Amino acid sequence: MSEAPLRPIGVFGGTFDPVHFGHLRVAWECAEAVNLERVHMIPAATPPHRRPPQADDLTRAAMLRAALTGQERLVMDDRELLRGGISYTVDTLETLRNELGDQPLCLILGTDAFLGLPQWHRWEEIIELAHLVIAHRPGWTLPGDGPLAPWLQAHHRHEATALHHAPAGFIHSVEVTQLDISASRIRALVAQGREPRYLIPESVWNIIQLRGLYRKATTP
Ligand code: ATP
Repeated sequence: MSEAPLRPIGVFGGTFDPVHFGHLRVAWECAEAVNLERVHMIPAATPPHRRPPQADDLTRAAMLRAALTGQERLVMDDRELLRGGISYTVDTLETLRNELGDQPLCLILGTDAFLGLPQWHRWEEIIELAHLVIAHRPGWTLPGDGPLAPWLQAHHRHEATALHHAPAGFIHSVEVTQLDISASRIRALVAQGREPRYLIPESVWNIIQLRGLYRKATTP
């Protein structure tokens, strides 16, 4: 009798400056839709495509850890913070692949991130290391032309179960609840002396207050 395949492990990266319900809900809904065993939430040290985070590494990790208490499916993974320097997703996926053997790996990306993929470091290797799970708006359709279209067509799988039967190589899309929340908006609210309650977990808001984070406005 053949063994049941291992459920895939999800990867969701970001600056998490701070983590908010938009991030958490996307990770959770993708975990449910693809039946992921768990999702590694991975804060970037220095993100390649944007300005450095405002809160330091330890503080962003502490906020993320606080946001994840009470459940075990989304887990904090600080490998990019420990590695330091510019955080390239392909390097992170390589380390996970070495640890997981043939267990399927799913990189969760928002639509915007997916469309920008050709700008990523060694982007074509990513699909050899992991599946891609695109979290998109209800009613949104995958691009039918442009540079990504043939690549997407070649790898796309309609059924999430396909991702359980190979370690990497497929693209699947999941409709997720749209929460129009961004970390930059939260930082701006705090800098204006307003309270970002109900956009972020209360435990994260407590840390922001205790440590006096984001009080100074910065240019976006
Ligand atoms: P900032 O406002 O500082 O740019 P952010 O809120 O976009 O930050 P990041 O940590 O940079 O947060 O995002 C990590 C990932 O989460 C990105 O792929 C981003 O597209 C996605 N993401 C962020 N906010 C949401 C949201 N509200 N809904 C869905 N995906 C989101």
